Amino acid sequence: MTSLSPALKQATPVVVDHALGSWIYGTDGRDYLDFTTGIGVTSTGHCHPKVVAAAREQVGKIIHAQYTTVMHTPLLELTEKLGEVLPSGLDSVFYATSGSEAVEASIRLARMATGRPNIVVFQGGFHGRTVAAASMTTAGTRFSAGFAPLMAGVHMSAFPYAYRYGWDEDAAVAFALQELDYLLQTRTAPNDTAAFLIEPALGDGGYLPTPPAFMEGLRERADTHGIQLIFDEVQAGVGRTGRFWGHQYSSATPDILITAKGIASGFPISAIAASTETMSKAWPGSQGGTYGGNAVAAAAGVATLGVVEEEGLVENSRIRGEQLQGGLEAIQGRFPVIGDVRGRGLMQGIEFTGEDGTPDGATAAAVQQATVDQGLLTLTCGPAGNVIRLIPALVVTAEEISMGLERFEAAV
Ligand code: PLP
Repeated sequence: MTSLSPALKQATPVVVDHALGSWIYGTDGRDYLDFTTGIGVTSTGHCHPKVVAAAREQVGKIIHAQYTTVMHTPLLELTEKLGEVLPSGLDSVFYATSGSEAVEASIRLARMATGRPNIVVFQGGFHGRTVAAASMTTAGTRFSAGFAPLMAGVHMSAFPYAYRYGWDEDAAVAFALQELDYLLQTRTAPNDTAAFLIEPALGDGGYLPTPPAFMEGLRERADTHGIQLIFDEVQAGVGRTGRFWGHQYSSATPDILITAKGIASGFPISAIAASTETMSKAWPGSQGGTYGGNAVAAAAGVATLGVVEEEGLVENSRIRGEQLQGGLEAIQGRFPVIGDVRGRGLMQGIEFTGEDGTPDGATAAAVQQATVDQGLLTLTCGPAGNVIRLIPALVVTAEEISMGLERFEAAV
């Protein structure tokens, strides 16, 4: 008998029968409030009627046309729609299928645009699981254990993790920028450095919003040294943090922006955006893949961006995020095992710590399992697995947030 690979380790025992909005209906007959959303993917909720209709219609027209052979209208429409929300100056877009592929595309582009080899990443960053993306992932050694050698030319610098250092944010930012300056003096000279790659809020690294002053410090250094600043918005983008892009909490803008996940409500499509000048440094054929910019995924993307706008989902993410964070802080007050509650919008992390303040992965894992029993789906993250992350759909209602908080507290 054939079975699924043991390498597929499921966080819950749930098998989905069908799903709608914030809810997953299991084959076990139970209803689960889904605060995982396919790891931040089903932004408009499960099976939003407008996304379903757009995909259905597209399937009847054309499913796949390889974009380096013939172009299709959904991709042109998606590009136009993205143009309405991309930071000014990023007027050229290239499509791939997954977040990791888009991360790799951004690295290829930064290297071709600068003619330099090295990439600086930040402690706790997660950029994917392909070998090159795993090389730049420092959220934990588990993401690349056992399959070295990794890609050469990657240097890791500190991330301003104020809570874990026990410092205030300003001190953590000053420290991390100093570390970066030191790295540029000692390990990768600016003339050898193609890019800084950073998430506007760490995802797998522990749901840590990146301090605005740190993003701005990176922008300054990138400008000074002609280094490409890449923002990996794969998880934080498309309204997740209560602004359209996660980086919009700072005044810094990227040279290259990476988006995926929430952009098409579950259909696999990703993109990088840069200026036309930068993008033209990539030789034709240096980017792309057979399924890149798939027509059905692109149509779902157009519908998703339409729904995000029409239903005010960025604003809903901000308001429901405040409700969620407020409720979690109240729960924190009742349970000393919760050391920190943090996040922006509907990207909230709860860090579990022992009495001495050390990361407590065992408790986080037990609570995550207990949430499933309570009918709430959650995930862990962080280097020690000691952070529970809550990632509700952007359409989540006030009642669903209240219900989620009750179930989470019962699990704790
Ligand atoms: N970048 C970030 C910030 C992510 O959170 C992820 C996935 O979780 C990736 C890149 C990789 O995306 P994918 O799993 O689609 O390859």
